[in-house]
Amino acid sequence: MRLALIFLLAAAIAFAERQVAITIDDLPRGGDAGSCGGDLLAFNRAFLVPLRAARIPFSGFVNEGRCQEKLGAAGLGAVLRPWKEAGAELGNHTAGHPNYHQTPREEFFAGILEGARVTEQVIGVPVKYFRHPFLHMGKTLEDKRALETFLRAHGYVIAPITIDTSDYVYAAIYPQAKDAPTRQRIRTDYLRHMEELFSFFEKRSREVLGREIAQTLLIHANQLNRGARTGSSR
Ligand SMILES: [Zn+2]
Repeated sequence: MRLALIFLLAAAIAFAERQVAITIDDLPRGGDAGSCGGDLLAFNRAFLVPLRAARIPFSGFVNEGRCQEKLGAAGLGAVLRPWKEAGAELGNHTAGHPNYHQTPREEFFAGILEGARVTEQVIGVPVKYFRHPFLHMGKTLEDKRALETFLRAHGYVIAPITIDTSDYVYAAIYPQAKDAPTRQRIRTDYLRHMEELFSFFEKRSREVLGREIAQTLLIHANQLNRGARTGSSR
């Protein structure tokens, strides 16, 4: 009994020492089939509720061109303002989410400059962090160095991640689920997937570095992540 309690306490202490930064890509909405559908302001406000309530530090990475036709600059600003008010750090994820491995360099760089105009207005200071679409940093060392140089010249810091998930796979089927039990099943399996990934990367950290590092999690601003954390069925 006492031993069990010690194990529990040890687990609790180990858990308390773990740190994870939550980073959410593809704002104002992405990574699921219903990309720009619905009321995006309401969606983003609902997405923020559990994060605010838990007082969790988090960041959002914006694709300013993603829902441009629907929102316009003023609409995007209105969607991003609640993120700022919630204390989120807002970063640049390019305007149109191009793949650096398939896009001419100058075109990709132009997309970075296009990707922070509204965000900058909302946060009132230059955007500091950059997240690569698809996490693609360059097919060759030369491409990678060129992008790093460009980002540095424009005052950007690259925001890497340590826990990459397949949330977009679950997110793609989630909005199409035909009923509440099916959505629940997807959410449950998704959370299991996340716990397995955390365990894997925590173990990997111990194996490689002999300790657990502060992790950075990547998820996307989709309906699944809103539902999985709020427990809402839609
Ligand atoms: Zn993305």
